[in-house]
Amino acid sequence: MKNTNYETVVGMEIHVELSTATKMFCRCPFPTLQDQPNTLTCPICLGLPGALPFPNKQAIESCIQIGLALNCKINKDSFFERKNYFYPDLSKGFQISQYLHPFGEKGYLDIKINGVEKRIGITRVHMEEDTGKLTHATVKGREVSLIDFNRSSVPLVEIVTEPDIRSGEEAKLFLTELQKIIRYLGVSDADMEKGHMRLEPNISLRPPGQTTLPKYKVEVKNINSFKFVDKAIQYEEKRHEELLDKGETPIQETRGWNEFKNKTVSQRSKEEAHDYRYFPEPDIPPIKITQDQISEIENKIPELPAEKIKRFAIDYGITEYNAEILTRDLKLAHFFEEAISVGIAYNIVPLTIANYIINKKPNIEELLPATLVKKIKEESTVLQIDNNVLESAIRTVMEKNPQAVADYKSGKVQIIGFLIGQTRQVLPNAKDTEQIRKKLTEMLE
Ligand code: ZN
Ligand code: MN
Repeated sequence: MKNTNYETVVGMEIHVELSTATKMFCRCPFPTLQDQPNTLTCPICLGLPGALPFPNKQAIESCIQIGLALNCKINKDSFFERKNYFYPDLSKGFQISQYLHPFGEKGYLDIKINGVEKRIGITRVHMEEDTGKLTHATVKGREVSLIDFNRSSVPLVEIVTEPDIRSGEEAKLFLTELQKIIRYLGVSDADMEKGHMRLEPNISLRPPGQTTLPKYKVEVKNINSFKFVDKAIQYEEKRHEELLDKGETPIQETRGWNEFKNKTVSQRSKEEAHDYRYFPEPDIPPIKITQDQISEIENKIPELPAEKIKRFAIDYGITEYNAEILTRDLKLAHFFEEAISVGIAYNIVPLTIANYIINKKPNIEELLPATLVKKIKEESTVLQIDNNVLESAIRTVMEKNPQAVADYKSGKVQIIGFLIGQTRQVLPNAKDTEQIRKKLTEMLE
């Protein structure tokens, strides 16, 4: 739970793997989990001496799209830089990334917290490449580390927020909204179980009223679910509070989230940007982007969740709350709109379809919009059964079955199934069990 003695300050770093056909700086195919380790590599993504990288245009366009969708300013003069560090999953000894001039910067994303809009600043959106993947395993009783370079140089977009988030719950809302936008753009599946979206909150606490940032921050690395981000933030809030209460300052460090122990564990002290010795990538010329190119990329951006919610609410006469539910998943939003166009022939209004989908949660994977509309038509005939007719039928049933009524009133509520059956015998056309159940419950009170 949120502590009261301090204010929580959270910024997020999010890495999103783009689902392009090929990798970022070579033409190796985008790997899947089914591919055998180290089969999708070449001298470029292995970082062999003399190999020259050449950037993936599609990936850069997708990165710019994400930037535009997050209201960023797009840098027309940009270039790649080398971020130098050693790690076994990074065979080149550096990652090609962006530092001084990311493709996008100074943007924002508005989220809704309990119906109140809040703006989360986006510091930067930049393009880089992924590393290989290390797996620590025990083989024949020996502990080994295995390395797979299939993932090496897969296009990665890094999104960094301002420290505008105030709780684990807010972080979750922000991330949900961001994931939706990325999926709407179609640039990545943003599937966290497959590692397409990796989350790193940085957390610190300050006394209420303080507007400057705390002198420390703790980063929790590579979390793969929104729920764990929330938990990690809550865990850190408590840990920092205890230290601060004792007059200590938490150490600036990187920690990892242990999902089995439900806690964060210290990994290493945090490095500063200058430790990476960034410098322009000499093998790739600067990237110049014209206003025409930006406009062209912008024109390809489909309707995003926030606009869709507004349009659904206005065009279909539904509440924004329901419009939000219907747009959470793009597939559901398309299904809803298809059902609306089929529904016209049946005289079914969008509001009816919206309510049906929201209340009955049909499995849209197994249903065609036309089938759904037919179902609504059938069931609405039932719903149109006059209230008085239903009431008098139920009254008859109650009179004929005094024992069942008494049983229900004494707490054996499951007997309602029997009474529903009896009512349906009186009214063979009444197919909507829910309507009967509701009326029965009301009349049995
Ligand atoms: Zn390659
Ligand atoms: Mn990064």
